[in-house]
Amino acid sequence: MQAIILLGAPGAGKGTLAEGVRNATDYIHVSTGDMLRAAIKAGSQTGLEAKAFMDKGELVPDSVIMRIVSERLAQGQPTDKYMFDGFPRTLEQARQLDEVLAKLGSAVNQVFLLEVPTPVIVSRLSGRRICKTCGAVYHVTNIPPKKEGICDQCGGPLYQRPDDEEATVLNRLDVYQRQTASLIDYYDQKGILIRINAGTNPQAATAELLAKLA
Ligand code: ADP
Ligand code: ZN
Repeated sequence: MQAIILLGAPGAGKGTLAEGVRNATDYIHVSTGDMLRAAIKAGSQTGLEAKAFMDKGELVPDSVIMRIVSERLAQGQPTDKYMFDGFPRTLEQARQLDEVLAKLGSAVNQVFLLEVPTPVIVSRLSGRRICKTCGAVYHVTNIPPKKEGICDQCGGPLYQRPDDEEATVLNRLDVYQRQTASLIDYYDQKGILIRINAGTNPQAATAELLAKLA
């Protein structure tokens, strides 16, 4: 089993990059945010536990996150290559991930830190719109749909994630600084941190990541 991590503030473009990497490689994309949103949609126990934290822009408890990630890895094959997006987000999650992987005879191979200036992040998140039907991602000015409020790909309605409203965006950035930014040192000290310039456009960032992927 192989594992890489996409690390970066909310709005750094982890999801968009992950899609680019997935299309170009055989990495399996594991987004804890997507898994939690799916759990909420399905009305599962995990979804119920997670929703209040997510709506406020707070982190979901480590125990919930580790449970869904461990369950996902347990379904996998020894040859699988995983790309984690939005996970780990605390030192505790990082340490537990190391343990889970060690038990599977594996370890984190590379961690890609997506670097983006804060004002760019705020504008990206507050302008982000998502298709309710197919999940395609747009932006009111950077990636506008051909017809306002309508998905180009499937005609579904576009909506704003409740946690993309400006006040919640600022809280998510604060949570990132307080709880997630320390992972940069954690992985740098292991010698597996790779910095990617993700402040210009997703295509350039994806190309840079693919060039640095071992
Ligand atoms: P973003 O990276 O843009 O914040 P995500 O979809 O990754 O978007 O996460 C949305 C929300 O889901 C987070 O604000 C948090 O509440 C929850 N979440 C996702 N992944 C984790 C995680 N690894 N640990 C704790 N909470 C998480
Ligand atoms: Zn759509």
